[in-house]
Formats: sequence, C-alpha cells, structure tokens
Amino acid sequence: MGYRIHTFSPDRNSPTGQIADYEYAAAYEDSAAVHSFAKKVDALTFEFENVPSLVAEIAEAEGVPVRPSGSILHAAQNRQREKSTLSRAGLPVTPFRVVANRSELKEAAQEIGFPAILKTAAFGYDGKGQTRVESETRLEPAWQSLGGQVCVLEAQVDFERELSMVAARGVDGDFAAYPLVENRHVNHILDITIAPAEVEPAVVHEAERLARQLCEYLGLIGILCIEFFLLPKSCKGIEAQAAEAGSTGRLLTNEIAPRPHNSGHWTIEGAVTSQFEQQLRTVSGLGPGSTKQLRPAAMLNLLGDLWQNGEPDWQALLAFSDAKLHLYGKHEARPGRKMGHLTVTADTTSAALEVGLAARAALQRI
Ligand code: AMP
Repeated sequence: MGYRIHTFSPDRNSPTGQIADYEYAAAYEDSAAVHSFAKKVDALTFEFENVPSLVAEIAEAEGVPVRPSGSILHAAQNRQREKSTLSRAGLPVTPFRVVANRSELKEAAQEIGFPAILKTAAFGYDGKGQTRVESETRLEPAWQSLGGQVCVLEAQVDFERELSMVAARGVDGDFAAYPLVENRHVNHILDITIAPAEVEPAVVHEAERLARQLCEYLGLIGILCIEFFLLPKSCKGIEAQAAEAGSTGRLLTNEIAPRPHNSGHWTIEGAVTSQFEQQLRTVSGLGPGSTKQLRPAAMLNLLGDLWQNGEPDWQALLAFSDAKLHLYGKHEARPGRKMGHLTVTADTTSAALEVGLAARAALQRI
C-alpha cells in the first residue's frame, strides 16, 4: 500500500522487524526511545496487548494518533477492566468476581460455584495465567499456582461452541464486520478456525450487533476481535436473558483483542480485505475495505510442538497445493508457542477442514 512501517519492540530481528522498513529495539519502559520513535511516525498501532500503556500515552502526548487509543489498550490489558468495559457497553459477560486475596477467593467461589476458572487479571493469553478449579479443595493450589496475584474467578461456561468476530471502524465511524467464525481450542489455545461458523442467522446478527455496539461505545479506530461463547439452546435462564428484542440470549462475551487476531488469519486468503490490510487502512485514516468472504475457509495453527522431532516435513506439504503456509519467523519453537498457520479455502468449510487436517498431519515428523 506504499506505507513505510516502523516497528518497536524489545527484541531484535522480531517477526515484524524482519519485514518492517525500520526496526527499533528498546525496552518499552525506555521513555526516551519511545519519544524518539513516536517523533518519526504518522500513526501508531500495536499488534498485541501486553505493550505497557505508557507507550501509547507518550505517543499521544507527542501528538501522534494512537489507533486504537491508549485507553482501549489499557482496558484490554486487564481482565477486570475488560469485563467492566464490556458490561458498561451493554455486552453480556460470563459471571465473574475479582479476587485479591484468599478470603475474597473463598467468598467468590461460594457465589460462582464449581467448576470455575481462575485467571490472573493481568497479562494472560493462550491459556497462560489461568487454571480450572474443580472444587473447594482445589482453591488453594489454584491460588498458589497463579502466584497469589489479583485474579478473576469465572463460572465455567458449558458452551456449545466458541465463536469470534473481527470488526473494523474507521475515523468517520464507518463500521465493517467479518463473518462470524467458529474457533476450536486445545489446552485453552486456539487450534482451528472455521469460516464462516455454521450457526443460525439470528446468532450472526446478534454477534454483529454486539460488535458494532462495542466499537461505537469505545469510539474504536482500528480493528478489534470479540470472542464469544455460544450457549446451548436449552440453557437455563436463556429466555429471560433474551427479553431484549433481537437477542437470542445465547452469546456471552469472553474477551476482546483490539488488534488483528489469530481467528482472523483466514482473511488473508478468504476475504476481499485481509484483517491486516483492514488494520492498516483504519489506523491510516482510510475507511474499512470490504469484509466480504470469497470462499469457505479453515485455518489451522502450527504450534511449537510440531517441531519436537525436528523441523516439520515441509516437503510433504507441497502435495497439498490448496494449503497456504504462513510462518512467523520466530527463532525458537517451544511447546504451545504459535509458530505459524495453514489456511485452506474450498467449496465448503468441511472440505477446507479435511484438507487442512491432512496437510497439518503430513507435516508431523514421527
Ligand atoms: P481466554 O484466555 O480467557 O480466552 O481463555 C482461553 C480459552 O479457555 C477459551 O477460549 C476457552 O476455550 C477456555 N475458557 C476460558 N474461560 C472459560 C470459561 N469461563 N468457561 C469455559 N471455558 C473457558
């Protein structure tokens, strides 16, 4: 698109640094380095949430548009702030309590019940910083395993499926949402995304309404992903919750990410505008591009586990001419670390998934 990209992170030769025009390597806390970086750019965005919000504040003070804003970044960094922001925006969230010590944890567990999920309020992603609590006797070990820091205790949701939607909003308030997708997780880490999700139109409309409501509430400029739990139709209390017109009452918001999201990677091959172009367009002040899906798609993550018996069998992948490989240029493959992904587009999502699973299996060295 003709833009020059400057990237800032504590690492040299980072995945973005490998392809950016300029790579600045300095600590996020090095405010002099952040100041000089901010002076050189016309707009600033981020591609993960765990960038100290001070970076956004410094850039904003330098007069550089930070998109999404530092306040949205700040809200998304902490589960307590995130959930209260979602509630204030009128989105349904999983029942939760904030707990800062053992006695609060006990009280919260009495209200929430078991099984529950204990999550650190700060710096959690991909199942890190969270643990399932089966019963009262597991409260103490769970509390200790997370280091006794401020946490949220959530009810474990007996969902039918996990869904997500990536949406974009431009400087003029133009809104565009991608199709709702289904996400399948393994060990709390995203494994597969299926686009579009095969759900009733009412669920899609509701997801889109909630995404729009949130983006407008936040005054978002940029892109954002909302993750949902889809409750089963027969779930208790659903009808009462669904009193509001147009609501199925079946969607609960799990979390938000104000950046390109793993569940939106399929858009590179599967949509008119990829989520990465969408981010660039919206943060650069252009309107969002078309989010129209071109073909059904399946995206399969490649975790570091695939490297455990050596380099994956790239040669074997060549037999799958419909599979598109993306590797992120991370230097070390660790179990559970996202190293890349495959996307397959086909006439149906099930055909795409079938080819994707076979292609991924072919990569595995035994
Ligand atoms: P999170 O980091 O909160 O997105 O959690 C990662 C994954 O853990 C989710 O995508 C779900 O698969 C699972 N999970 C998290 N919270 C809950 C919950 N309250 N009930 C059931 N599963 C959950």
